[in-house]
Formats: sequence, C-alpha cells, structure tokens
Amino acid sequence: MADTRRTLQKEIIHQTLCQMHCHPTAGMVYEAVHRTHPTISRSTVFRVLGQMAEEGRILRISLTGSDDRFDGTVRRHGHVRCRLCGAVADIPWVEMGSPSDTAGFLLEGCAVEYRGLCPRCQAQLKKEDRIAGKASL
Ligand SMILES: [Zn+2]
Ligand SMILES: [Zn+2]
Repeated sequence: MADTRRTLQKEIIHQTLCQMHCHPTAGMVYEAVHRTHPTISRSTVFRVLGQMAEEGRILRISLTGSDDRFDGTVRRHGHVRCRLCGAVADIPWVEMGSPSDTAGFLLEGCAVEYRGLCPRCQAQLKKEDRIAGKASL
C-alpha cells in the first residue's frame, strides 16, 4: 500500500517536472507539485528528484552559482544560461571528443555550460540601449 502511494507520488513529481521546461530547482518543482497535490511534502519532492536523477530518469544539472536544476529531458543536449535572469534553455549537443591527456584522471563526465543573454534580456537591454557593440562572453 505504502509502495503504491510512493510510486504514484513519484509519477506525479516526474510528470510535473516534464511539463516544466524552465529547468526548475527542486524548490520550484515542489511549488508546482504543491499547487495540484498539497499532500506531497517538500522533503518527498526533494528526495524523489534525487532518486530519479540517480536512476537516470531525469537530469540533475549543476550550474555554477545556482542551485541544482532538474530536467525531464534525458536525451543528450546542451544548456545555455542567461547571465542576467538565470534562464536556462536547451540547445543541441555538440560532440567534443576526449582530451588526449587526462592528467592521470579516469574521465567520468564533462559538463559544458554556455553563457549568454536570453532573447528577453537582449530585448530589454536593447530597449535600455545598453548593448555597446558585440558583447564578449
Ligand atoms: Zn535573461
Ligand atoms: Zn535541458
């Protein structure tokens, strides 16, 4: 019985995450889950997200200077983050190959984070006329 409830909660949390395309933090997922299922606790949402990330059902994205984000899209793809508003978007994956020298390390993964300005912030900046020539990354 308890197992059935747990499975159901997991499905609800997974579905909610997949409907959010903003790469939410665990707190944001909790807020969305809470709106429709107020009985699911914050700790359950955090725990289930961690579990599903370990199982490979969802992605946990670690970004510098931000809480971990979660992503319901598990196919290989890259991420770009807006340096002003923090918005994260999906972009196509670029194969980079392995370095010829790994300094004795066994490589297990690689995280590339593109930075830039999202369309909304670009428009906002243009309005404020603050873009001086080409912005360098
Ligand atoms: Zn932005
Ligand atoms: Zn993504």
